[in-house]
Amino acid sequence: MKIVDLRSDTVTKPSKEMFEAILNAKLGDDVYGEDPTVNKLEEMAAQKMGKEAALLVTSGTQGNLVSVMANTNKGEEVILESESHIYYYEVGGIAAVANLLVKTVKGERGVLGPGDVEDAIRPKNIHMPLTRLVCIENTHNRAGGTVWKPEQIKAVSDVVEDKGLNLYMDGARVFNSAVAQNIDVKKMTRYVDSVMFCLSKGLACPVGSVICGTEEFIEKARKYRKMLGGGMRQAGIIAAPGIIALESMVERLEEDHKNAQILAKGLKDLGFDINPVDVHTNILVFDVDNADNFLNTLRKNGINASKFGEKRVRMVTHLGIAETDIDRVLEIIETIF
Ligand SMILES: *Cc1c(COP(=O)(O)O)cnc(C)c1O
Repeated sequence: MKIVDLRSDTVTKPSKEMFEAILNAKLGDDVYGEDPTVNKLEEMAAQKMGKEAALLVTSGTQGNLVSVMANTNKGEEVILESESHIYYYEVGGIAAVANLLVKTVKGERGVLGPGDVEDAIRPKNIHMPLTRLVCIENTHNRAGGTVWKPEQIKAVSDVVEDKGLNLYMDGARVFNSAVAQNIDVKKMTRYVDSVMFCLSKGLACPVGSVICGTEEFIEKARKYRKMLGGGMRQAGIIAAPGIIALESMVERLEEDHKNAQILAKGLKDLGFDINPVDVHTNILVFDVDNADNFLNTLRKNGINASKFGEKRVRMVTHLGIAETDIDRVLEIIETIF
């Protein structure tokens, strides 16, 4: 029985073309800046994002930490969405490693309102920490893969700029956002100072994320990446599939979104509390009576999904999940529940 693994798009395996690119990659020592394949990926990424420079990092978590550090000084305050990945899933690195204070702001399905951001920024006062950075997450994972529209980013960006702060986008799945809205990703990145995206999720690479921003920001980030042990040597073996991903894996995300819609409609028809209109990309988050029971029963039938709370589960569509797999998932759920 084929396992239908809907836990995450991180389970995607590299394509044959990616393996071939790895075998044929020109390599050098990237800590010396001499890996031509890494340099090529970083140039491509910077161009795609409309930024001056880019840096390959080991993971999204490292990209977020390095970016936050390069945007702040110790003891300053960072504004995060209450259920953001940086706050929720990154082992508290922002406190433990970056020594920053966090202020959370609740978003509307992951999207922060400009007024709420403005209210959260500290006034200039001798007693208070300095607010330095605002982070947004696009698509927003825990909110169910929801997208930020360009005008929503602009609205927050206007406030941030007005107050002299920086705006950072955790864009682990920013290409899903762009494809879902049928816009160039630059329509969103133009309003942020720096951005991270993951190669290892829907783009199906085995390893890696990329951060993009000004030359000055990337120079600082490179130093912090080294500090955190992320200075890699012949990293071209990681960059090579990244190049393939940027060339040929972005447009196909549309398929994952279509499958997510089929799944959402099917679940709705079966009486689950999910509205397909709220499923913007490849992530479904919905409530069940008991997440452990639900997931255990699915697992016995060859379907894997993630626990997102005692009564909450997540399913993610990705490369390797076909429409026929979705049909099977719906059939099994109908039979059992
Ligand atoms: C997955 C994810 C990350 C972290 O990426 P890793 O490569 O798993 O460390 C960061 N932000 C968001 C929104 C994510 O979904």
